[in-house]
Amino acid sequence: MDGAARPGATMLVRYGEIGLKGANRKAFEGALKRRLEEAAARAGAAGVTRVRLAHGRIYVDCEEADEDTRERLLAALTRTFGVVSVSPAQRVPLEWPAVVEAAEALGRRARLAGARTFKVEARRANKSFPKTSPEIARELGAALAKRLDWPVDVQRPDAVVTVEVREWIYVFAETRPGPGGLPLGTGGRGMLLLSGGIDSPVAGWLLAKRGLEPVAVHFHSPPYTGEKALEKVRDLCRVLAAWCGPVELFTVPFTEVSQQIYERAPDPLGTVLMRRFMVRIAERLADRAGAQALVTGESLGQVASQTIESIAAIADVATRPILRPLVGLDKAEIVELARRIGTYEISVRPFPDCCSVFVPRRPATRPKVEDCRRAEERLDVAALVEAAVAGAAHERLEAWPAFSARSSRTDP
Ligand code: ATP
Ligand code: MG
Repeated sequence: MDGAARPGATMLVRYGEIGLKGANRKAFEGALKRRLEEAAARAGAAGVTRVRLAHGRIYVDCEEADEDTRERLLAALTRTFGVVSVSPAQRVPLEWPAVVEAAEALGRRARLAGARTFKVEARRANKSFPKTSPEIARELGAALAKRLDWPVDVQRPDAVVTVEVREWIYVFAETRPGPGGLPLGTGGRGMLLLSGGIDSPVAGWLLAKRGLEPVAVHFHSPPYTGEKALEKVRDLCRVLAAWCGPVELFTVPFTEVSQQIYERAPDPLGTVLMRRFMVRIAERLADRAGAQALVTGESLGQVASQTIESIAAIADVATRPILRPLVGLDKAEIVELARRIGTYEISVRPFPDCCSVFVPRRPATRPKVEDCRRAEERLDVAALVEAAVAGAAHERLEAWPAFSARSSRTDP
């Protein structure tokens, strides 16, 4: 019987990436199933859910869960990469009165929530059920219209009550979108250079959506940057963790590097040289964390250090690919994403990061790789990198339990 033993509640989880075939599909489904189990655990619903795969869908049974737990579970599932949409459904036996009863309860809620009209859609995959799909739609529509005094509008209904007949019958009236993308981890790991700004958390999220698990690194400059700036970065990780599960964060002391650059290198190259050090140090930590790529929030032309010449001068010291998912986005588009993800409010907290402390007076917009290399001859690059790596602290940040419930309805 579809793996489920009794009637109850099931979240119907839809996924789909065109072009997934054969062994790839199997790996995708297995990874998604595991991520959904983790999401259920984050929602505090591990003990009351069971995740099963059938008919190109994932079914998350959760009958023992109370209302709050179910809401948190739904929020966590719609925040799992690879999920296209989720419908919280009632799972009932192949008996008509049970269908009507479940539909009536869902319909009543939808009505209270403001749906003035409705229609019924039915799909009968299990032909042993005596009513055909059109019969289900017609008869259930008539029953609900009468019992709830609810007008049917087949053209533009406010609510759609859907009935799916399989080994069980699933009845639902709500479908919430997920983020889409690919299950986390199927794209490897990436070392995310996470400042306290708006862009880099969005960059991490976009690639996480494509399966690249983020590990974060943040450079700070005590005593110029304080504990509040660090806490801001931790909070950004906590928001990412609501989508990704616990996020590892390396915090790296960067004062010595910045000061030496400031004192010994030509002023216009300051920012680009700092970025080159960040890349070198991030790569060392990427070795440690098993990350195959670096990820930054760079967007072409946004500031002097993000011209194509600057991007080239920074990439000059990298041995791994540097992924820049925001490269073609406008600031307004990035802000919109940051709001959807939930990082915006945190990113705009006004604490300085290391780069706003040591800003060049006249930043170069077209730095030459040769000039950067020459400037670094006056610095002990290896020793500076070594000291920064040795001073790196490592922590692991989890999502706030409240975050998952609070923002569930505004999810993308
Ligand atoms: P963001 O909003 O992410 O800070 P930004 O538009 O302010 O980006 P820059 O300050 O030029 O851009 O930084 C470019 C990128 O370099 C950032 O997106 C981030 O990936 C990385 N970066 C900058 N400062 C730091 C830092 N202190 N720690 C870690 N990464 C950083
Ligand atoms: Mg910044």
